[in-house]
Amino acid sequence: MPERVAIALLYPELLGTYGDGGNAAVLAQRLRWRNIAAEIVDVHAGEPIPRSCQIYVMGGGEDAPQALAARELRSGSILADAVDGGAAVLAVCAGLQVLGQRFAGEDGKTHDGLGLLDCETHRDDGPRRVGEVVVTPEPELGLSELTGYENHGGVTTLGPTATPLGKVVVGNGNAGGDGTEGIVNGRVVGTYLHGPVLARNPELADHLLTSVLGPLEPLDDPEVESLRKERLHAARHPHMHMPQLRSGWRRLLRGS
Ligand code: GLN
Repeated sequence: MPERVAIALLYPELLGTYGDGGNAAVLAQRLRWRNIAAEIVDVHAGEPIPRSCQIYVMGGGEDAPQALAARELRSGSILADAVDGGAAVLAVCAGLQVLGQRFAGEDGKTHDGLGLLDCETHRDDGPRRVGEVVVTPEPELGLSELTGYENHGGVTTLGPTATPLGKVVVGNGNAGGDGTEGIVNGRVVGTYLHGPVLARNPELADHLLTSVLGPLEPLDDPEVESLRKERLHAARHPHMHMPQLRSGWRRLLRGS
């Protein structure tokens, strides 16, 4: 166990559109709750990526900033070296696409990815995939159902060596026609789920932490459990949650 676990948040100004920086906060807090010192290292575009972090976190972003982030990352091999050295990576949506072999950017231009995940992302004529997602994780991961929301134009197809994070129950996920969501390559996890995904799915946070640090004592999360129940139910029964939402708004407006 290092004296202090360092979590790098890569390019928050480029890959921070969907609040995925919260994933770094969740990882750090779950360590502190276990009396393990943790720090979040913000890495801004143009700055060198530190080699010695234990976990690297990348979020979602719009097409142009995403292409810039990919260019920055391709200018060195630090992320690949860090993974070889035992680090873990969580990459959400634009982050997942950037870690694949190739992805389509603005105007259908194709950009090279980093090749840390065996997938590629293109655009189709379909509408943008937006909304709540529920995923059954691959059994060997030993995780409970995943909840999150998606907002993407990209369609990701997995290559022959790829293992998905899970199967879509509600929503689109990779949207490549095979019903999969996300992709896992050892300690590198890519997902389309925002939320932030680790706030909604603390077991996934602990999965990443243990992949780097070894077994950790369990934490009791009653509040998160009730939030998860509510989100999983809302995703499966959106029509039942609309009236509550509307009456919530009415109450709010009456009180103003
Ligand atoms: N720009 C990418 C797309 O639309 C990623 C979006 C995201 O990160 N939510 O597919």
